[in-house]
Amino acid sequence: MKVVLATRNRGKVSELQALLKDLNIEVVPIDEAGDIPEVIEDGSTFYDNAMKKAREVSAASGLVAIADDSGLEVDSLGGRPGVFSARYAGEHATDEENYLKLLDAMKDVPVEERTARFRCVMVACSPDGSCISSEGTCEGIIAKSPRGSQGFGYDPVFIPSGESRTMAELSKEEKNRISHRAKALDSLKRKLKYFLEEQCTN
Ligand code: IMP
Repeated sequence: MKVVLATRNRGKVSELQALLKDLNIEVVPIDEAGDIPEVIEDGSTFYDNAMKKAREVSAASGLVAIADDSGLEVDSLGGRPGVFSARYAGEHATDEENYLKLLDAMKDVPVEERTARFRCVMVACSPDGSCISSEGTCEGIIAKSPRGSQGFGYDPVFIPSGESRTMAELSKEEKNRISHRAKALDSLKRKLKYFLEEQCTN
């Protein structure tokens, strides 16, 4: 069975493809699933955004679509950047502009108050409108300065709990063992097996 990943983020596509490898499905990137209109992420929660993307991409492609919405919640900033993580430093901000803005906003925050987490909500929807969802988090702290070149987004400034390295200093395999997306997908995968079986019998 074909499943489309409702994201244009190349970093996420390769992470998700690696994580879905052991399921007996063909994972199709969104640009190979037909003419899919851009989905506006205007929800106030990760769940709302993931649901909107999965529903719209599934309806437009006629395939089961998996969407995630994720971001960084920083406690000393009241949970920001949250759903604004991708555009924290402006609409077309680069990853570097975003994390430099974050470091600047936190320059006076002491280490014990630099707690944060990545959160990921995942949704799978079928063209008939039925959906399943899951969530995963990865706790950590925000570093004082960026380190590492792996991953994407805020990885160079996020130190996962129990680690001294930033997420961007971990290998892809190490990140996939602890990441919010891996945990959300692991939980989704357990439900997905039955969900896909239902699609085949309907
Ligand atoms: P979205 O889920 O595509 O809306 O992305 C939200 C934003 O959150 C990304 O552009 C990154 O800035 C950030 N983000 C989400 N997951 C990660 C991650 O695994 N590492 C670093 N940053 C992330």
